[in-house]
Amino acid sequence: MPDQLHRFTFEHFGIRGEIISLSASWQAVTQRHDYLPVVRDYLGQALVAVTLLSATIKFKGSLILQMQGDGPLRTLVAQATDRRLIRGMAHAVGDVPAGDLRSAFGKGRMVLTAEAPSGERYQGIVGLEAAKFAGVVEAYFAQSEQLPSRVWLAADGQAAAGLLVQRLPGGHDDDEDWRRICMFADTLEREELLRFSPRELLRRLFNEEDLRLYDPEPVAFRCSCSRERIAEALRGMGREEVDAILREQGLLEADCEFCNAHYRFDAVDIEALFAGRSTLSSPDSRQ
Ligand SMILES: [Zn+2]
Repeated sequence: MPDQLHRFTFEHFGIRGEIISLSASWQAVTQRHDYLPVVRDYLGQALVAVTLLSATIKFKGSLILQMQGDGPLRTLVAQATDRRLIRGMAHAVGDVPAGDLRSAFGKGRMVLTAEAPSGERYQGIVGLEAAKFAGVVEAYFAQSEQLPSRVWLAADGQAAAGLLVQRLPGGHDDDEDWRRICMFADTLEREELLRFSPRELLRRLFNEEDLRLYDPEPVAFRCSCSRERIAEALRGMGREEVDAILREQGLLEADCEFCNAHYRFDAVDIEALFAGRSTLSSPDSRQ
């Protein structure tokens, strides 16, 4: 199945939705790391959630979802751009219990940051007060958009998928329509969400409803790291500190946590870097 996000609307009332299914892009994220299944599945759900969220807002740039808690799943970052380019990583310490999300992430919060190319940022925060990832995302919608929204998320080693339905302001629906759509969607099994194509899933769930499915948008894995960005960070550290590491280790090395790209700077590179020349063409810059 291709990695795609579909939008859909119900023709006769003010309810819209999105459905997303990832396989190649999701495998590109996981094959670079040796994640515990429980950590991997949370990361998949986070990537699906941030991509769904990125398609509900009009913006240019990237949307970043971060989980910040005191549990064993210390770090989780998922990012989607307005062009649906995604990347993500997670870091756990010790064993991560399955089941309730709060036993994995602990006491904490989910932070969503929209970052424009100009550097302008908007941030939204919601506490981790649900047992499931979808519950946290729904709480975020309730708080930030104040549009009733329901979310279903699933991930395993092969695929990651999600469904969103959202009630629009000033729609022609009544509570009955909204309840019926949510009730149908609630019959969705995890395996169905992961294995069926979006078209097939929507047909199964909302068979009797007049539903318009829009052309899909492709979703792909892409890491935005670059040698120039690492160089910028090194310049930010200052010459003195960089020279101290150089004396101690002979060269400076950095690995991208998202894609595992390896960057190395030797004494000549560092000289060029602080002289302001580009180091982009250095031959062994990326392995
Ligand atoms: Zn990278």
